[in-house]
Amino acid sequence: MKITVTGIGPGGEAFMTPQALEALQACDVLAGYDVYVDLVRHLCPGKQIIRTGMRRERERCALALEAALAGNNVAFVCSGDAGVYGMAGLMLETAANHPEVTIEVVPGITAACFSAALLGAPLMHDFAVISLSDLLTPWETIVKRLRLAAEADFVICLYNPRSKKRRDQLDTAIRLILEHRLPETPSGYVKNAGRPGQEAHICTLAELPGQAIDMFTTVLIGNSQTRIINGRLVTPRGYAL
Ligand code: SAH
Repeated sequence: MKITVTGIGPGGEAFMTPQALEALQACDVLAGYDVYVDLVRHLCPGKQIIRTGMRRERERCALALEAALAGNNVAFVCSGDAGVYGMAGLMLETAANHPEVTIEVVPGITAACFSAALLGAPLMHDFAVISLSDLLTPWETIVKRLRLAAEADFVICLYNPRSKKRRDQLDTAIRLILEHRLPETPSGYVKNAGRPGQEAHICTLAELPGQAIDMFTTVLIGNSQTRIINGRLVTPRGYAL
């Protein structure tokens, strides 16, 4: 009776930790969002599969709990890290009245770290991760966090930057950040990190709204110290050279 909420990293199995792989191999039931289940099912053939579509998070957790209560060892997969906009929190909440079910959280490489590595070393100093999705967070809260993170000179990493329904929010976010940061601030974005079609681009903050940024993209915005060194994005930590 166990659920292992497992972060599988950004995509390919090369980026999955041995601990995550072990969880997949040890399970009886593989559960998760369709796309992530399909990314890993070949690694654990013959398992029972519970897959649900987008926005079915509550149902996904309830089904995983049901399978565990029936005596199964469930691997519940999430992309990136299970506890960063993943399912770890909702799974713990869903199982609140079932202390007999062991819930283990297995971390994975989150999109911010993987994307930062492709671009250079932009997250070397204090940074803030902000999701632009207002499905679960009021837009006013997002605006406040963007403003204050920009004012406090955090490196800013944006998740869920733009969807088909939310075309303008990235542009608004950049406009808010520009109130506290220079237009030429070195920035970048990574699309499909660790998956087929991976792209990494460096540009200025002011150029970000014009880029082909979508829901499978992570955006990184430098702080006042971030520089470009040999084509890589670097936020100095302050060591004297
Ligand atoms: N748990 C995930 C984040 C889920 S939120 C993690 O830790 O990475 C979904 C957002 O994460 C996407 O809109 C995108 O901004 C970012 N993201 C997730 N996977 C990505 C990938 N492979 N490449 C680029 N961005 C990604």
